[in-house]
Amino acid sequence: MASETIARVRERIASACLRAGRDPASVTLVAVSKNRSAAQIKEALEAGIADIGENRVQEAVVKFNQLRTTNYALRTHLIGHLQTNKVKEAVKLFDLIHSVDSILLAQAINKQAAAFAKIQEILLEVKTSPEESKFGIKPDEAVGVAKEISQLENLKLLGLMTIAPPVTNPEEARPYFRALKELSDKLFSSLVFRPSSIVLSMGMTDDFEVAIEEGSTMVRLGRAIFETTDDTD
Ligand SMILES: *Cc1c(COP(=O)(O)O)cnc(C)c1O
Repeated sequence: MASETIARVRERIASACLRAGRDPASVTLVAVSKNRSAAQIKEALEAGIADIGENRVQEAVVKFNQLRTTNYALRTHLIGHLQTNKVKEAVKLFDLIHSVDSILLAQAINKQAAAFAKIQEILLEVKTSPEESKFGIKPDEAVGVAKEISQLENLKLLGLMTIAPPVTNPEEARPYFRALKELSDKLFSSLVFRPSSIVLSMGMTDDFEVAIEEGSTMVRLGRAIFETTDDTD
């Protein structure tokens, strides 16, 4: 059942890529497992999911521990707001931290990563809709913050992340995604160091196809993966 749901989501990703003239392999599907059990995550892994996103460090600690005995290759993503007192645990647990939204947080992550002799991969979270989202850097501050971050030796800035405001029509989210793509082009052309492929983490269950049309390379899907609408028939 999980495998059918996931296969349908992958088809929708592939169609959106086709419309945009993009290779479906250029979009990573991150299954967002907040509020889902370790058993549900295991089922998703068995159905071919390789990337798992969690919002809260404490919740992830418990579930990832329960998954430790599985043999699946698992790449872990922190997508929720990170408080500095959780940085140590976060650096221990996550391959990619999407939610870096200040220099201070970046410095704290860098310090902890150095202590673990780890190069921590991160994204900068950008507030593309000023009135809606609580967290994220203002777009006009992003270039400066990215330049400072690129001086931190144990961080690797791979790209940008944004959360579009909730919309009834996915088309309404398009300007936010377009803004992130434009900012990314500007920001990375101004940096000396550029990753070989730039990550744009944007698009959730209600708007991921539009996000892909606008250049998303990483969609974060919770309900689309873990909530089946048709299991009553
Ligand atoms: C919950 C969450 C998602 C997934 O949301 P869905 O609408 O269930 O796909 C993606 N990104 C972030 C940051 C989230 O908190």
